[in-house]
Amino acid sequence: MKIGLLCRNPELYSHRRLVEAAEERGHDIDVIDHLRCFIDIASNDPEVHYKGHSLTGYDAIIPRIGASVTFFGTAVLRQFEMMDVYPLNESVGISRSRDKLRSMQLLSREGVGLPVTVFAHRTSDAEELLRIAGGAPVIIKLLEGTQGIGVVLGETPKAAESIIQAFGGVKTNILVQQFVKEANGEDIRCLVVGEKVVAAMIRRGKEGDFRSNLHRGGSAEAIKITAAERATALKAANAMGLNVCGVDMLRSNDGPVVMEVNSSPGLEGVEKATGVDVAGKIIEFLEKNARAGRTRTKGGKSRKKVKVA
Ligand code: ADP
Ligand code: MG
Repeated sequence: MKIGLLCRNPELYSHRRLVEAAEERGHDIDVIDHLRCFIDIASNDPEVHYKGHSLTGYDAIIPRIGASVTFFGTAVLRQFEMMDVYPLNESVGISRSRDKLRSMQLLSREGVGLPVTVFAHRTSDAEELLRIAGGAPVIIKLLEGTQGIGVVLGETPKAAESIIQAFGGVKTNILVQQFVKEANGEDIRCLVVGEKVVAAMIRRGKEGDFRSNLHRGGSAEAIKITAAERATALKAANAMGLNVCGVDMLRSNDGPVVMEVNSSPGLEGVEKATGVDVAGKIIEFLEKNARAGRTRTKGGKSRKKVKVA
C-alpha cells in the first residue's frame, strides 16, 4: 500500500512508530505536513498540492492532526476523502471528537455511561447550574482543552461558583460535570482499533492531582478491563464513528463513565505500559480495510446511525 501520514512532527514517538510499522510490513509511507498542503478545489478533480507537486496514488491516510490545527488539518484530510482515499479516521469523526460537548451528546444518544454534565451559555446563574450538575464538588472543563489543561476541580460551592464566573468573564465555553471522586485520580484508557480494544492501561495522577494525564506527570500500567468497560469503549468508538481512538473512562460507583474519546491517541504511553504493538495493529487494520470509497469498518452501518451530528 501507499500510505500518507498527516502530521507536523515526524520525530514524535507515535509518528516514528507508525512509519516503522508500515515499512516493516512492506508498505510505502510518506510523511505529509498538513499545514504545508494546498487544497485545490477549483478543478473538477480534487487535488492536494504539496512541496510543488500533486499528491496522488495513496491507498490510505493516517491523520495525526493536532488539536490546535483541527480546522485546516481536517480540511486536508477531507480533500483526500474526496479523492476516494481511505482515511484511518474520517474527518467528521475527528471534528466530533475535538468538541467535548458534541461528543457527549452523541455518546449519550447511544446510551454510553457518562458523568452528569451540564453545558450553558450564561454563567450568571452559577448556583442553578451547579444544582443541575448535582452540586459541588464538580469538575469544570474548557470545551476544547487537552492534556488536562483547562480541567479544574471546584471543591466547594463557593469555589465552583467563582470558577464558573471567572470562565464566564472570559467568554469561553465550559462544561460543568459531576466529580467522580471514587475514581481516586485514576482513569482507564482503552485503545480501540477496528472492532477491538487492543490495549488498555490505567493512569494515575501525580500525587495530589485528580487529573491522570500523562502530560501532567501521571503514570500508567497495563490493566485487564472488565467486560462492561470493553463494551463501553467499543460503543463509544462506534458512536463517534472512529476506527481508531483512545476511550478514556472513570470507574464510577455506577459503572464505567466516559470522559472523552481521543481520535489521535498517543502511542508511547500505551505501548510502553502494555507492550502491545499498537502501531502494527493500526497498519494491519489498514491492510484489511483500506478500500477506495470506504470509511468505517462496518461499511455504512455505523455511519447511518451517526447521521449528521
Ligand atoms: P483533557 O482533554 O484535557 O485530557 P479530560 O476530560 O480527559 O480532559 O480530563 C483530564 C483528567 O481529569 C482525566 O484524565 C481525569 O483523570 C480527570 N477528570 C476529568 N473529568 C473528571 C470527573 N468528572 N471526575 C473525576 N475526574 C475527572
Ligand atoms: Mg483526557
